[in-house]
Amino acid sequence: MTGKGHRISTFAFVLGATGSPLAATMSLFGSTFPDSSEYIFFGKRRNRYHRRYTHWFVPWLLLVYTCFSRSGWIVPRISALVDGRGAHLDVWSCAGFWFMGCLLHILEDAWCGTVPFLRPWKRSVGLHIFHMSKKIGQMSRGEINFVLCTVIISLFAFGVRFFTVRSFLDFCYTSGKVFNKL
Ligand SMILES: [Zn+2]
Repeated sequence: MTGKGHRISTFAFVLGATGSPLAATMSLFGSTFPDSSEYIFFGKRRNRYHRRYTHWFVPWLLLVYTCFSRSGWIVPRISALVDGRGAHLDVWSCAGFWFMGCLLHILEDAWCGTVPFLRPWKRSVGLHIFHMSKKIGQMSRGEINFVLCTVIISLFAFGVRFFTVRSFLDFCYTSGKVFNKL
């Protein structure tokens, strides 16, 4: 998947799952790191190691678990970070969501290619639901559709948080009253 595809689908997914723009932004920052870390670790030999050690889910999962358990499993609160009281929990949570972005990157890559499963040097699992564009950095039609689906489902989940059955009934009741007055 392209960097753009990773950033959009990760942001949308985390926003839909947590309802927190801060958590989604942290995940967005982490969402391209497994690819960019290959330049740091392997430099020019990057192609030989592409989607291998850096795309093994185990270390990322451990980092996500460590940070989230230190945070007390909370979603980061901007108010606590500004206030400073108990903010260390929110800082751990922010770090957890940054690594969550890395973990989701691997899952997203597994939709369109293969990533390692048990052996980090061997790419062995993947679904090939869509193909990547031949042009580097360009999103293929399949990738655009995949990203759009993720965005629509996540926005729906995000909307449901604010638009519960109760608020729907309230909306009907109020608009019914307004309508009667007209
Ligand atoms: Zn990748």
